[in-house]
Amino acid sequence: MIRPLLLLALLGTPSAKAAQVDSARPAVPDPVAQLVSRLDLEQYKATIKGLTQFGDRRQGTDRNRNAVNWIEAQLRSYGCTDIGRIKYDYQPPDARVGQGLRPARDTTRASGGGRYRGIRARTGVNTDSLKQPDLRVRAIDMQPTTPGVREEVYCTKVGTGHPNEMYIVGGHMDGHGWGEAANDDGSGTALVMQLARVFSAPDVHTDRSIRFALWNNEETGLNGARAYVEQRQALQGKEDPPGSGKYPEPTWLGMIQHDMMMFDHGMPRADGTLSPEQRPEADVNIEFQSSAKFSAQAQQLAFAFQVANEKYATDYPAAVGAHMTNTDSAPFQDLVAAISLRENERGTQIGAGWDPNWHQPSDLYSTYSDKDFRLGLNAAQTTLAAIAGLVGATIK
Ligand SMILES: [Zn+2]
Repeated sequence: MIRPLLLLALLGTPSAKAAQVDSARPAVPDPVAQLVSRLDLEQYKATIKGLTQFGDRRQGTDRNRNAVNWIEAQLRSYGCTDIGRIKYDYQPPDARVGQGLRPARDTTRASGGGRYRGIRARTGVNTDSLKQPDLRVRAIDMQPTTPGVREEVYCTKVGTGHPNEMYIVGGHMDGHGWGEAANDDGSGTALVMQLARVFSAPDVHTDRSIRFALWNNEETGLNGARAYVEQRQALQGKEDPPGSGKYPEPTWLGMIQHDMMMFDHGMPRADGTLSPEQRPEADVNIEFQSSAKFSAQAQQLAFAFQVANEKYATDYPAAVGAHMTNTDSAPFQDLVAAISLRENERGTQIGAGWDPNWHQPSDLYSTYSDKDFRLGLNAAQTTLAAIAGLVGATIK
């Protein structure tokens, strides 16, 4: 305890000198920087690789159910042991109903409200198993989907000061397209799992809670996230049992979704091809929806993430956009501040063919280079840093 003595000795000296001494003090280590340094490219890659053992993890199949069980086992191994599951029934809409009723989509306008610029390439979902050239992957993806009961898993880091309030950090674990869903959305699922690992370390404490949610049925229309909102919205902030200090559904402070985190190779060229390499000016796209009820709060949250990126992400910057769309944060956007992080803007860029592996057999672990994986890691650094600040994380 030398500091009080030093201060005593300095009494009566000019303040400039005191300031000089003050700046020479060893800086208090920034807990956010320490937490960010616990993320690691190899662990992020290994988690994506682990998810791809279940192929495209299509909803309503054994490979999807096995992936949910595997994710839960990983979360437990990280110490994120406050685990829950949402159960819901999924029946695909009858294809015949609504045919002829739905107006043709205006393809000159991007989904979410943005404007297309420049060159566009084709997008779509592959439904042809024979387009998967790797027979091993083709075999894994073989079982067809059947309607019925679905499950999705989440785990919670319980806050010590305000266990009754939480941020939700999400990614969707299902995919389709006869590949390995490595990017869509192994990259977002692995990001959420790695954050669960870092925040669940026994020396990490948070004032508020964080829920790590791995949604199912995103690809069929956000059904897993919608089921969560339906089942749990009314439970927010209720202590159960009364007097226990336990809050099964802490009040939602924000929802942050992660979907397709790795591939920002730029706009398609005139011939429809893309750069084979990550572009050096790649960025993390943080989007909110300007037409949402909680638009102002979501915009503020988005910029908090942009600031966190600027301070803590090692390689790639972040950009904020106003046209969040087609993502699991949508069911939350009129209830709470909701944003999404992606490799590109969903409407104007991914919708314009900037990701040629999207829902394709080529969405394989082996398709991506370390520069691609690193963009996902930078998104993880961004969310980890932003959330650590928002929940008051400390290391003891
Ligand atoms: Zn996705």
